[in-house]
Amino acid sequence: MHADLEALLNLQEHDKAVIAIEAELAAFNPELAALDAELAQAQAELDGARKGAQDAELRRAELEGKIESYRVMQERRRQRLEWVRGAKEASTLMAELDLARTVLAKEEAEWMRSADRVQEAERRAAEVERLVEEARTAQASRREAIAAGQAASAERLAEARRRRDQAAGGVRRPLLQQYERIRRGRAPLALYPLHGEACGHCYTAVPLHRRQDILNGQSVTTCEACGVIVYHAPD
Ligand SMILES: [Zn+2]
Repeated sequence: MHADLEALLNLQEHDKAVIAIEAELAAFNPELAALDAELAQAQAELDGARKGAQDAELRRAELEGKIESYRVMQERRRQRLEWVRGAKEASTLMAELDLARTVLAKEEAEWMRSADRVQEAERRAAEVERLVEEARTAQASRREAIAAGQAASAERLAEARRRRDQAAGGVRRPLLQQYERIRRGRAPLALYPLHGEACGHCYTAVPLHRRQDILNGQSVTTCEACGVIVYHAPD
């Protein structure tokens, strides 16, 4: 085989190794994304539960303020009652006091319920917080394993790239440029073996005279249809 072709095929083998390790690294991504999504969902639930607890507390505080102002007004009515002279005015004030007492009792009952809701919401938030922690703990070992796998792959990738660059150094410059140009195109690889009478990439028939060149292995020949370098791979 022609020395140029040998150098190119050698480079392609190193590129294949690089591609394989890049695929290994990319293969970690879906699982990592799934783990991230699981945590994000748990966190969103926790945020919702905490918001619920805050809202319940706000409602309780609102009611407390309202009840306090009712009590103040009620106290004023009682004081006025002590100074009232006329019987009619007194009975009006008594009626107001009675009505206000009923309203206050209702608000106090509502406050009791709101306090229950605060407790319930806080319990729920604590429960969800525990679930988030559990999810984190459950993921920890898997994430560690993934990180270790990524680190190992990254190390091998760096080494494979170093070897690849070394192999590229063994290819004549114009051929290397041609090789890189083909690789930037659609074909995943730059070199394909002759497949019967056709190009091993696009399966377009290679004209006889070119096929002869390829079989002789004395020159670097490209496919007229797809542009990849076609070579003869002896069995
Ligand atoms: Zn082709």
